[in-house]
Parts: sequence; structure tokens; C-alpha cells
Amino acid sequence: MKIGILAVQGDVTENFLATMASMSELGIDGSVIQVKTVEQISTLDGLIIPGGESTVIGQMSLVNGAIKKIKEKIESGMPVFGICAGMVFLSKNSQDRIVGNVDQPLLDILDVKIERNSFGRQKDSFEAKISMEPIGISSFHGVFIRAPSVSETGSGVEVLAKFNEKIVAVKQGNVIATAFHPELTKDTSLHKSFVKLVDNQS
Ligand code: GLN
Repeated sequence: MKIGILAVQGDVTENFLATMASMSELGIDGSVIQVKTVEQISTLDGLIIPGGESTVIGQMSLVNGAIKKIKEKIESGMPVFGICAGMVFLSKNSQDRIVGNVDQPLLDILDVKIERNSFGRQKDSFEAKISMEPIGISSFHGVFIRAPSVSETGSGVEVLAKFNEKIVAVKQGNVIATAFHPELTKDTSLHKSFVKLVDNQS
């Protein structure tokens, strides 16, 4: 099994380490690689899109053609896990709570409307207990950093978690997305759940 971490910008190393740890805890034989190019992406069984700045991740992926390859792979069944900016990048529609519409490249896969910076700016970052019962994770420490939320969902989208009435984690078939950062905690349960999804698919 080969899982890629999109290494354009954001917390790539933390996701790399969390995915390595998850594979080893699950006893799954596989590799984790940092990917950027179309060639690297085309070899993957699963992809994690880390948090960071979605406008930058989108622009850079557009410039080298990676966006098209990622979309193609997800559409043909490759599981993907989008975290924070990754969740924004996966979406069909995104607006910034403060500045409104931003012209940014999106993968146009996850059938949701995103509100970027939904909880405020950097200084409004926070941590909170999250429950994701539909995937068997009853308690998770959510780290929210300039986090988005999901303001509308399409019919194929399952809500995994809410915080203060806002949707903060969703699943749509082979796509999982969270507004918070599991790679910044010691808890690997969410990364493990993604590794299992990849294992079932490949
Ligand atoms: N606010 C950022 C964005 O919309 C996401 C922040 C993050 O990934 N921690 O791209």
C-alpha cells in the first residue's frame, strides 16, 4: 500500500509521521511518500491533503498539473483525506467568512459549501472535544486553526461531527474531510481509520 502526503505547503511532516505510525500500529505493510508531481500521484493508493493555506495549495497544484491528476484518481476510487485547507481544496464551493468569494482553484469533488475561517482568524484558534460516532471514534481532541466549516451538504455527504452547530467533519464515499488537525495530536485514530479505508480499497 502506498499513501501520499501532498507536499506543496502546510503541515506535511506531521501527516507523514502520523500515517507511518498508523500503518505500523495496524501492522500494515506499506509506504508513505511526500508527493508533488503528476508522476508521483499516479502511483498512489491513497492521498492526504494537509492543512495549510488552501489558496496556495490550489494555485501550486494547478501550475504543475497535479490538480487534474488528483481529481482523476479520486474519481476512479482512490481514498483521500483532506484536513482543514485540504477540506477547502476538495470542495465544490468555498467562501471566506470575512472577505466573501475568493477565486481559488478547487478540486470540485466534495459536494459541500465551505465557509473558510468560519471560527475567526488565527487568534480565534481553539481546541475542543469532538465526537465522530459514524466512524466509531467517540472522543477526539480537535485542534482548530483558522478552521473552515461546512455550511451546506449535498445528498451523498455524511456528517461525521459538529461543533457548536457547525459541521466540522464529513465523509462522501472515498473522501474524508475534517476542519481540525488530527496530525497535531498524539491520537492516531483518525489516520488509522483512513489507512483502513485505503486498505479496503486496494
Ligand atoms: N484558513 C485556511 C484556508 O482556508 C485553512 C487553515 C488551516 O489549514 N489550518 O485555507
